[in-house]
Amino acid sequence: MFSSKINSNLVKRAAAAPLNRLYSQLALSVNVNLPNGTSYEQPTGLFINNEFVLPKQKKTFEVISPSTEEEITHVYEAREEDIDIAVEAAQAAFNSDWATGDPAARVKALLKLADLIDQNAETLAHIESLDNGKSLQCSRGDVALSSQCIRSAAGWADKINGSVVETGDTHFNYTRREPLGVCGQIIPWNFPLLMLSWKLAPALATGNTIVLKSAESTPLSALYMANLIKEAGIPAGVVNIVSGFGKIAGEAIATHQKIKKVAFTGSTATGRHIMKAAAESNLKKVTLELGGKSPNIVFDDANVSKAVQSLVAGIFYNTGEVCCAGSRIYVQEGVYDQVLSEFKAAAEGIKIGNPFDEDVFMGAQASYAQLTKILKFIEIGKNQGATLITGGERVDDKGYFIKPTIFGDVTKDMDIVKEEIFGPVVTISKFKTVDEIVETANDSPYGLAAGVHTEDINKAIDVANRIKSGTIWVNTYNDFHQSVPFGGYGESGFGREMGQESLDNYTQVKAVRIGLTKKN
Ligand code: ADP
Repeated sequence: MFSSKINSNLVKRAAAAPLNRLYSQLALSVNVNLPNGTSYEQPTGLFINNEFVLPKQKKTFEVISPSTEEEITHVYEAREEDIDIAVEAAQAAFNSDWATGDPAARVKALLKLADLIDQNAETLAHIESLDNGKSLQCSRGDVALSSQCIRSAAGWADKINGSVVETGDTHFNYTRREPLGVCGQIIPWNFPLLMLSWKLAPALATGNTIVLKSAESTPLSALYMANLIKEAGIPAGVVNIVSGFGKIAGEAIATHQKIKKVAFTGSTATGRHIMKAAAESNLKKVTLELGGKSPNIVFDDANVSKAVQSLVAGIFYNTGEVCCAGSRIYVQEGVYDQVLSEFKAAAEGIKIGNPFDEDVFMGAQASYAQLTKILKFIEIGKNQGATLITGGERVDDKGYFIKPTIFGDVTKDMDIVKEEIFGPVVTISKFKTVDEIVETANDSPYGLAAGVHTEDINKAIDVANRIKSGTIWVNTYNDFHQSVPFGGYGESGFGREMGQESLDNYTQVKAVRIGLTKKN
């Protein structure tokens, strides 16, 4: 997959091979061949002050293609001392015009960045499929939403206004919405480019500066984006992007004394840890977008074929590696048999395989660790007495592919009903009444999303009001828009991404109260 610019004995990797090694001869850019016959220059260094640089220790780690299990390249690893350097660069940039100058400059740069993403859309989509294993269909969707999200934030950048507060004519009061400073952003591996865009967009629109760490299994698109960020005219030091491991570089961000906020997307366990680290260091602000176990509900009066499409999109989109996946399906008794039979047929008809085939919907799971975790949950499901309706196994023994998997005859205490699996595994159960399903839907510590399928608008709104989650999709699922805020209730986290609400996470309000002297 990669050119001879890097050591040619770095080929196939067994799942258990060491991830990290000293490899200081790695070039700061390597040529990577893509399956469509094109190639591109993949940066490998740390992006600090608008330049790719070597980390102090010059260690690298390897990046694997989940669909072939072959190595794509190595990239350089950031450690604590590199995070310090990135933070210094971001701090210097925050003290510049970026934060305090005319926001028109931010509008212009963000619009340019969105255009550059569009111009590089096919390369970005291919990088994402190569690195994450997701199908090209999914990657193209991620790229399109990424540019829309950044373009939408550009529209807000010159509308971050405070207000005048009336308290009588003895005082004049106004508020300002000021940026926070250097923000740390830690992103996951399921939507590497999209999560980067969701995080960068509001932070940049509001005048903050950033140190972003990509996930160790999917660092490639973030480094490619770094070049576009520079080309867009975003000043040096405003965005710094590092590859590295959670326990080292991630920890250094979460505990850093000069970072004013950390935004994290990932597992609930790591989110909890980051919040603690933030509290114990400098009480930096925290926003968390965490796990979920989202109910997807079909009522008797739903349009069944449309609902089935949403069930499929809900759990099998992006191979189920979606924090808001509709992983608990509930169907009202009158249409249960019909929905189950259509859903099973749809699941069995999904094309799985080479992510670069145009008609493939499901590519590979993102990593060997993820593959084994999902297979373990499938075993647990069977052992706890659930009925395997379809799937439940790897497609091949090469590449991390798992068949769409449906379990029936489940009870609420089974692990596959309670725990986030983060793969193409779903449970389906029958329910009778609205009250019963609202209670069941809310019987989870999570609260990220829910799906409601009915042709009755009164029922839809009633149920939407009563389910405790940050997003309710009615007659649709996994349906995102750059203007619609997304985030969790309960243990799914807090803070919102996209939409106007995302700006609140990156500004703080200053109140200025001026005592006036009356002149006669
Ligand atoms: P998963 O367990 O599914 O890999 P994580 O939530 O651990 O998901 O990872 C999401 C992101 O969080 C990655 O960028 C990872 O490097 C980072 N991360 C993991 N552990 C920590 C940590 N202790 N501190 C900061 N970031 C971390």
